[in-house]
Amino acid sequence: MSMDARAIGAQITQRIGSFLYSPTVRGAGRVISVSDGIVQASGLKGCRYNELLQFEDDVYGIALNVEDNKVGAVLLNGLDMVRAGERVCCTGRVVEVPVGDVLLGRVVNPLGQAIDGGREIAAQDYRPVESEAPAIIDREPVNRPLPTGIMAVDAIVPIGRGQRELIIGDRQTGKTAIAIDAIINQRDTDILCIYVAIGQKASSIAQTVQTLEHYQAMEHTIVVAATASDCAAMQYIAPYAGCAMAEHFMHQGRDVLIVYDDLSKHAVAYRAMSLLLRRPPGREAYPGDVFYLHSRLLERAAHLSQERGGGSITALPIIETMAGDISAYIPTNVISITDGQIFLESELFHSGVRPAINVGLSVSRVGGSAQTKAMREVAGHLRLDLAQYRELVVFSRFDSDLDKNTKEVLERGERLTEILKQGQFQPMTMAEQTALLYAATQNLLRAVPPAQVSGFAPVLLAAFREQGRWVLDRITQQGALDDVSRENLARIAKDTVETAYPQASDGEAK
Ligand code: ATP
Ligand code: MG
Repeated sequence: MSMDARAIGAQITQRIGSFLYSPTVRGAGRVISVSDGIVQASGLKGCRYNELLQFEDDVYGIALNVEDNKVGAVLLNGLDMVRAGERVCCTGRVVEVPVGDVLLGRVVNPLGQAIDGGREIAAQDYRPVESEAPAIIDREPVNRPLPTGIMAVDAIVPIGRGQRELIIGDRQTGKTAIAIDAIINQRDTDILCIYVAIGQKASSIAQTVQTLEHYQAMEHTIVVAATASDCAAMQYIAPYAGCAMAEHFMHQGRDVLIVYDDLSKHAVAYRAMSLLLRRPPGREAYPGDVFYLHSRLLERAAHLSQERGGGSITALPIIETMAGDISAYIPTNVISITDGQIFLESELFHSGVRPAINVGLSVSRVGGSAQTKAMREVAGHLRLDLAQYRELVVFSRFDSDLDKNTKEVLERGERLTEILKQGQFQPMTMAEQTALLYAATQNLLRAVPPAQVSGFAPVLLAAFREQGRWVLDRITQQGALDDVSRENLARIAKDTVETAYPQASDGEAK
């Protein structure tokens, strides 16, 4: 093959022409002061809000206060490695985390680095932790259920895919338990889960991971953990990092359940950072933009339209209250952002009503439209019946001489309260819940003394599972109750009650 000089010249010119070299100009500056993980730096020309800053020795920080002649930043790592006078430069990027299937089953820190002692995470894709929420046009109303397996939740405060439902309550009232049960219930579904632990003890997180592993729920779950001993900046970005991982799946058309446990500690970490950055404190010493802190996070939960792939992120943020005060600053903020709340009460928890859901104060503003017809039929009156019962209980304390009607309402309410009790890690399918609630609301359990109903429920459930498997399958398939299902449910319930309480049932019959 021969080539003349001109052809060679043309080739070279073409190659040079296609050579792209675009030098990046980065602002560089010096550290003025450093204390408590907060850095003040000068000379960072063109630095932008939320930009990742690079210090010497691979230490990174986030620029949060961008002023005329100096920048205030929080450090993400190497808190005691940065010295005054050191060089710092802008990176032109925001914090990014690895995303994708490789993270499933792993425990990572908010930067996406493995902290479970396993292999390093070799991700193909990265995503910035902060990104804009989907627009209104790209969304679809919540119309598919996300069953939690907890009867009291699925019947009274149903959750739909793409919803944001707050779990709120005092300390030790079973908030985490509800979220973990919901994650475990997604075992055999196509829903992926992300559990973001913020400011918890490392030992509690380890225990949660162990629980998830024990119930084979870790395969479809990512745990993002910023422990109480991590710096405030790590706790601050943890929920955004978890959300970025969820968004990646959502844009692939998959469904994700994300739990933020808990956002009170997140707000406290942000308050610490803001005060150290010398931002003016407002109510309860929180900075003025603490509402935006949570609204921009929770707005990213969405149910995308079919054109956008139809994926969804369902968010279960958790808030801890002090002495049941839901009108404090952070609780009211988050209540106003979410589509409803599950309010847990210490008093109920200690009187043995577990999950300790206060039916009166708990609502789900959008989930009802995602409930199955069968569930709507049996649970329709539940809230009202329970409310009536609670009101009567207060009055009946004064008067022991009650008429027959009132007694009946009281007993019925007591039975309903009992049937809604459910232990941890015992999820029930929608059909099983429907069957149990059908028995309770149709008064088929009247031969069972109210105090023994919660003990009798597992027996009845076992009977439904053994003798009525086909009825349960039928309910699951049809999503509604027909006469055949109703008859058979009633028959099984009656037989089981008669076997367990023969005398009482005889008395009823006469
Ligand atoms: P914290 O404020 O410490 O985060 P929390 O509100 O998240 O507490 P959990 O840790 O979920 O509460 O639960 C507190 C205790 O109650 C745990 O020991 C848990 O096992 C128990 N518990 C929670 N729910 C139930 C339930 N449905 N049945 C029996 N025990 C439960
Ligand atoms: Mg908890």
